[in-house]
This record gives sequence, structure tokens and C-alpha cells, in this order.
Amino acid sequence: MRCEAFRAQSLKFDDGVVPLDMSDWAHHVNNCRQCSDWADAREVTKRGFDPNAFPCVHLAKFATMTCEQHTDPLECPDILIYYNARHDEYALPVRDGGPAYVPIRYCPWCGVPTPASKRGRWFDELAAIGVDDPYDKEIPACFKTDEWWKIGVTKP
Ligand SMILES: [Zn+2]
Ligand SMILES: [Zn+2]
Ligand SMILES: [Zn+2]
Repeated sequence: MRCEAFRAQSLKFDDGVVPLDMSDWAHHVNNCRQCSDWADAREVTKRGFDPNAFPCVHLAKFATMTCEQHTDPLECPDILIYYNARHDEYALPVRDGGPAYVPIRYCPWCGVPTPASKRGRWFDELAAIGVDDPYDKEIPACFKTDEWWKIGVTKP
């Protein structure tokens, strides 16, 4: 199967048209890096996110993945890369039932560098508004998500 045929069938798949040769179709996406990235980008877009707002389409796929069974991404075995939006960290989850994760410096699939962690800046900016122990105290809502570094600090 060629890339054009794979992509045409993928688009039809959205409308419920199952590819005639399903194994050929699946084989293609598993062996063609361009089409695999193309499919990932479509998936991210369908979730309502811009794939270009992330370091690469692979990290975008996992950062925007949600699961009906696991509200906490750290508990979902399908979410291979955990994204901590408020600190802008991409990480490997430690699957011990706890909140631990190990930040990664490069995408495992394409090698693109991940952004520098904003954890230090998060503490600094909270300290600047008088919050010295953010894990124990109530913090402004914008600091609980990526809002504080993407949009800016808003008053609580
Ligand atoms: Zn292809
Ligand atoms: Zn899950
Ligand atoms: Zn990547």
C-alpha cells in the first residue's frame, strides 16, 4: 500500500468506512514513519489541540491523551509519556501507584529536545507573590495549569 492510499483510507475510516485490506493498512502505519506522524497529528488535532504547539507530534500525542478508565494519567498504562503542564515537563511515569515520574530530555521517537523544566521558575514566581510552600498552601488557579507561563499570571 502506498502513502496516498493509506491516507485516503484513513480519512474514510473517520466516516466508518473500514479499509478493505485492514492488515495492509495497519502494516503501512507501523512501517511508514511519515504516515505514522501524519496519523498522530490528525489524532491530536481531533482532540482539539494544535500539534505544532508541542516539541513534536509524538510528545503532543501523549500530552493530550486522556483515558476514561484512568483520570490520573500517571495511572494509565497507555499513556507512555506523562506531561506535567504546569512545569512544562515531559516524563516517564514510575508505575508504582504513586505520583513519581522521571523527566526526559529528548523525545524517544524522534530525538527532539524537550523544553527546559519551568519548575524552578514556578517556585520563584509563587515566592514573588508570597507563596513559599506551594504544595501545602492554596495557590492561584493559573499556577495549577500551564496558564501562568503560557498566558500569564492572573490575579487569584
Ligand atoms: Zn506512508
Ligand atoms: Zn487508561
Ligand atoms: Zn518526537
